[in-house]
Formats: sequence, C-alpha cells, structure tokens
Amino acid sequence: MTEFNYIIIGGGCAGLSLAYELEIHKKLQNKTLAIIEPRLEYKRDKTWSFWKVTDHSFEDCVIKSWDNFTINTASASNQVMSKKFPYQSINSEIFYKKINNRLSQNKNIKFFKNLNEINTNNAFIFNSVPSANSVSSNLWQHFQGVEIETSKDIFDKDVLNLMDFNCEQRNAVHFFYTLPFSKNKALVETTWISNLNNDLLKDYDSQIENYIKYNLNIKNYKINYSEKGAIPLFYPLNIKKKNKINIGTAGGMTRLSTGYTFLNIQEHSRYLRENIDNIENLKIYEIPKKYKFLDKIFLKVLIKYPEKMPNIFYKFFNSFSNSTIRFLSNKSNFFEDFLIILKMPKIIFMKVLFKND
Ligand SMILES: Cc1cc2nc3c(=O)[nH]c(=O)nc-3n(C[C@H](O)[C@H](O)[C@H](O)COP(=O)(O)OP(=O)(O)OC[C@H]3O[C@@H](n4cnc5c(N)ncnc54)[C@H](O)[C@@H]3O)c2cc1C
Repeated sequence: MTEFNYIIIGGGCAGLSLAYELEIHKKLQNKTLAIIEPRLEYKRDKTWSFWKVTDHSFEDCVIKSWDNFTINTASASNQVMSKKFPYQSINSEIFYKKINNRLSQNKNIKFFKNLNEINTNNAFIFNSVPSANSVSSNLWQHFQGVEIETSKDIFDKDVLNLMDFNCEQRNAVHFFYTLPFSKNKALVETTWISNLNNDLLKDYDSQIENYIKYNLNIKNYKINYSEKGAIPLFYPLNIKKKNKINIGTAGGMTRLSTGYTFLNIQEHSRYLRENIDNIENLKIYEIPKKYKFLDKIFLKVLIKYPEKMPNIFYKFFNSFSNSTIRFLSNKSNFFEDFLIILKMPKIIFMKVLFKND
C-alpha cells in the first residue's frame, strides 16, 4: 500500500482549506498528501458566513457581502452598520470547486474514500472527523435553512437579519436568520440553541413555513436549496499526539458563543502551513483562553436563563458594534473585552460565575 507524508482525514471545510493552504504555498512539491473523504460528490451543502476581520483566500467564493445587519426581539429592532467588517457569505459548492480544481493539478495529492486503502504508518495525520464525545444532551446550535425565490422583489438586499427572536422560544433560545442574496432570493434559517433531545428538530419545516408566511409576509415562493446542521457548542476531545493534529470542528475551531468556525479554520490552516516543517513538535492551536472562559460563562447563563437571551443578544450589538464584532471574531483587545462585559446584565452573570444560582 502507498505511503504518504501527510494524510488529511475528512475533505470538508477544514481538510480542503489546509490542503489548499499547503498547495498554494508550495509545501506539496516534494511531499505527498492523501485526503480521505467518503462523499461521492461535492455539491452545495453549506453557506459559510462571517464578519471579514482578516483576509482569507476565498474572496472569489463570496456570493454576497453586507455592511448592515439587524437584530430583532419581540419588542425592539436595531440596525447595525458594520462597514469596517463586512459580513460575507461563501457558497460551499464554489469553495469545493475552486480547491479541488487546484489540488487536481498536483500529482502528489490523491483522494481516497477510506483510510484502509493506504499505509498510515509513517504519515503525519490531520484529522477533521470528530470523535465519539458528541453527546446529544450537550448544547448545540442546530438549524435548517431554505433558499427561497419570490416572483416579486421583496427583500432589502443590503441588510441581513442576523437574529430575529420574534418567534416561539419553547424554553430554549430560538431565532431566525435571513440572508437576502438579492431582492427576490434569500436564505431563511430557523436556529435553535439547545440540546438535541427534543421535538424542536422535528418541525423545522413548519417553523420556516410559518415564519415566511406570517413574519416575512410572503405567500408565493419556491425553494431552490436547503441546508441543515448542528454545530457542537462544547469542545471536542483534542488530545495531542506526536503524529496527529485535529483540525476544524474536531480541532476546537468553533467559537462556542456563536458557532462561527470558518475564519478560525482559515487561521488554523495558516498556522499549520507556517509550521509544517516542525509539525511534530507544534503546540496545539487554540481559540484564545480568554474567549473560552467568557464563552463558558455566557453559555451557562444561556442554559439557566434562555428567556433572557433575546435581550442580551440585542444589547450585545446595541453599541460599540465594531468592538462586539471583533470580540466575536477573537480579535478584541483588553479595552474592548471590558466594554463587552459592561454590556452584560451583571447580577445574573455574577450569580452564574460564583455558582450561587
Ligand atoms: C449547514 C452548516 C452551516 C454552517 N454555517 C456556518 C457559518 O455560516 N459560519 C461559520 O463560521 N461556521 C458555520 N458552520 C460551522 C463550520 O464552519 C462548518 O461545520 C465547517 O464545515 C466545519 O468544517 P470541518 O472540516 O470541521 O467539518 P466538515 O466540513 O463537515 O468536514 C468533515 C468532512 O469529513 C468527512 N467525513 C465524515 N466521516 C468521515 C470518516 N469516517 N472518514 C473520513 N472522512 C469523513 C465528511 O464527509 C466531511 O467532508 C456551519 C455548519 C453547518 C453544518
């Protein structure tokens, strides 16, 4: 069986991002790479969105960028300008195509369906398949979205709706997310933050249908595309081994307070590429500890007081929005962290922090 210098397990967002990063920086000219990916074909399955706080290699996969977003609760609505950090959306199909086109030009890179097909003995492994600690009773951000097309021009294409809490909460945290790609095309997503053990998942379709009909006031539309997912809001087991590093969701690249992962994956790929010649001795790349600590408290409050979260999220973006965006994207400085903490309802956060509640 063939041996490889590097093996990437899982050719999804993190696996392909890393392969692309290595390839474009000429790290695979004298090294071989096997990518293990069981899927039969690459098609659109995700829409990755994020505030562009750093440069990335996928500007040409961005299908839409916004400078404004809204946050709604049942009683208030706020429009936030984010010109400094535009909110970008990437279509996964374009991303997969761009990367696979580039990788196919290098004979040192091969795809396999199963790890059993190759010899792993002397390879360094980058693994993006989460281990079995994915417990459904933990906290997840789970969602379903549909891209709808209307016959009339209905959407304000310049303003996305990041969170609309004007919907049933069922003792969890629930909001709708609407990305208007054009005046008559938008991705509408029902998003829950809860465990996976309840009925919420069963009626995603009717939640979306009702929201489109009653909240967005749209009667006639067709569905072009749908996506569904569950992002773990807990850290995976990530034990450092001499010849293996976890990447992507499996590598702890998700910010637990938001589910955002895409840009962290890009930064992790850059870090791995820069240190590829010393990979066996590399320190595990982590989301900075201060965010891990603050997110942990935030999620404890969310579990304890789900009914308070719409107002908390609303306040979060109400002022100093650039600092909030930088905070949520792991880029805030000490002063900005302090501003964010000041915006939070202090008593309940203190209660949770000191476990009196
Ligand atoms: C629908 C959806 C939308 C999301 N939207 C956003 C967003 O807007 N912004 C954001 O920042 N994050 C978002 N995320 C979170 C995160 O960015 C994505 O989940 C991202 O795809 C994570 O990359 P990954 O490589 O860790 O996992 P994946 O992209 O899921 O890749 C894992 C790969 O491993 C393969 N695989 C599975 N089992 C095996 C096996 N046994 N052996 C080998 N390969 C295997 C899979 O086929 C897959 O290709 C979203 C997640 C989902 C599910």
